[in-house]
Amino acid sequence: MCIDQTASSSSAGVNSTTSVSSTVTREQHASKEEQPEQSEESLYSVLMTSHKENEAWKEAAAMEDRNFRPTRAEGSRRKAPFYKVLQGMPIAVDAFRYGTIPGVTAYFLTHAHSDHYTNLASNWKSGPIYCSEDTANLVLHMLAVDPKWVHPLPMDVPTTIPDTGGVVVTLIEANHCPGSCLFFFEGQQTVHAGDSSFKSTFVGSSKTFRYLHCGDFRASPRHVLHPAVKGKYIDHVYLDTTYLDPKYTFPPQPLVISACAELARRIVAGEAIGPADCNGKRMLTMDAWVTAQSRPEVKKEEQPSQRILVVIGTYSIGKERIVKAVAQALKTKIYCDARKAAILRCQTDPELHSLLTSDPIEGGVHLLPLGMITSDKIKPYVERFKGTYSRAVAFRPTGWTYTPPSGSEQSPPIASIISRGQACSFSHADLKPMQKSSYTIQMFGVPYSEHSSFFELTCFAMSCDWGKMIATVNVGSENSRAKMAKWVARWEAEKKRNKDSVVKYREIDYW
Ligand SMILES: [Zn+2]
Repeated sequence: MCIDQTASSSSAGVNSTTSVSSTVTREQHASKEEQPEQSEESLYSVLMTSHKENEAWKEAAAMEDRNFRPTRAEGSRRKAPFYKVLQGMPIAVDAFRYGTIPGVTAYFLTHAHSDHYTNLASNWKSGPIYCSEDTANLVLHMLAVDPKWVHPLPMDVPTTIPDTGGVVVTLIEANHCPGSCLFFFEGQQTVHAGDSSFKSTFVGSSKTFRYLHCGDFRASPRHVLHPAVKGKYIDHVYLDTTYLDPKYTFPPQPLVISACAELARRIVAGEAIGPADCNGKRMLTMDAWVTAQSRPEVKKEEQPSQRILVVIGTYSIGKERIVKAVAQALKTKIYCDARKAAILRCQTDPELHSLLTSDPIEGGVHLLPLGMITSDKIKPYVERFKGTYSRAVAFRPTGWTYTPPSGSEQSPPIASIISRGQACSFSHADLKPMQKSSYTIQMFGVPYSEHSSFFELTCFAMSCDWGKMIATVNVGSENSRAKMAKWVARWEAEKKRNKDSVVKYREIDYW
């Protein structure tokens, strides 16, 4: 568990925690000519690093104002803040709520979550939409966008986008929801597109720019080791800053997934699930549980009233990995309603498709909306299957379930953040029953996130070569922007001391 190891953290030095990986060397970096020279700092760069940066953000905040009502004179559309349009390129990312953005000829969508496709609907006609194949399937299915606008792109293959002045894009798996990707753009600045009053002086120059748009992502070593990214200087990183605050500490996703699968397997098999917690509750609970369990391979005819139903709360898209792992561990199928099943079938995942069933009795794992994972809602749900399931185990995966103890460090050194994160483990024994759990309805909160933890954002930032980090989440308030800017500045300073390193990782899938 990675909750707090303040006592052990302070001794770790920078060099021991951000050890240099042999995979990234200075030679692999972009040629010197392509890197920004101090002397040719663009007006844009200057403004982004001075008081004008705040003005650009203020302009953006005004554009995003909740109470803003566009007038007819303004073209009846909300203006796009600067961070929605790539500097000097006719490309907008996750910017559908702004309608037809001046100068933009290519609209990119990172993934099919509603806050990223706001306003995208069947009446879309502002220009071509580029996204992954799974995201294309989802927007066609859910939003009925005219297929003539939707252009799925292959993953990992650099692809030139028409009408953009030769910009090449590579899609990289984001480790967020199905279909989600990072966009790595490479090209020259050819146009002043967008609504921002701040203009780049590099438009028309021969300099190559690289932008990495992270959409929503859970950062892993795979991202920084991807051939499109590895060893390249990235001018701008558009960062998913959902959890850019050291209080957001949660365990690596693969460990949480296997913990859920193992806990479900043990409960259904009637095995002990772990040591008692400090007040001994777990053992008491388990003593009761271990009686009269049915094993998954036991035919339901033999013990019809003893089967345990496993329920997992999900959103419309996301958390599928946890669902698959639990179903596979229990050697059972997944049941959900037809609407959810249709969404799952948009994903090109034959393994997932083969696990789906429309029979709630055949499926030992049921998917319900996250809001259904409360004792008073699950009870009547399980009662619908009386005679088949006698009780239920429910998982409630939510982004962040940990509250730091008061007095814990607000601003730990980068080295401590990294060493603590690397020491973080998680097993089935760390999953604790939620309040209001009972013998018949046992609920577990799961610290499962499809966004990067603060530790992972730090590792990511320390492991690639970037000029500017542009926050894309929690940018509405000056206070929140200032807090995030402080961390970006600290990453930058730390990187200057530790050039060209990839933070040492435990597995390719997590730091
Ligand atoms: Zn998302």
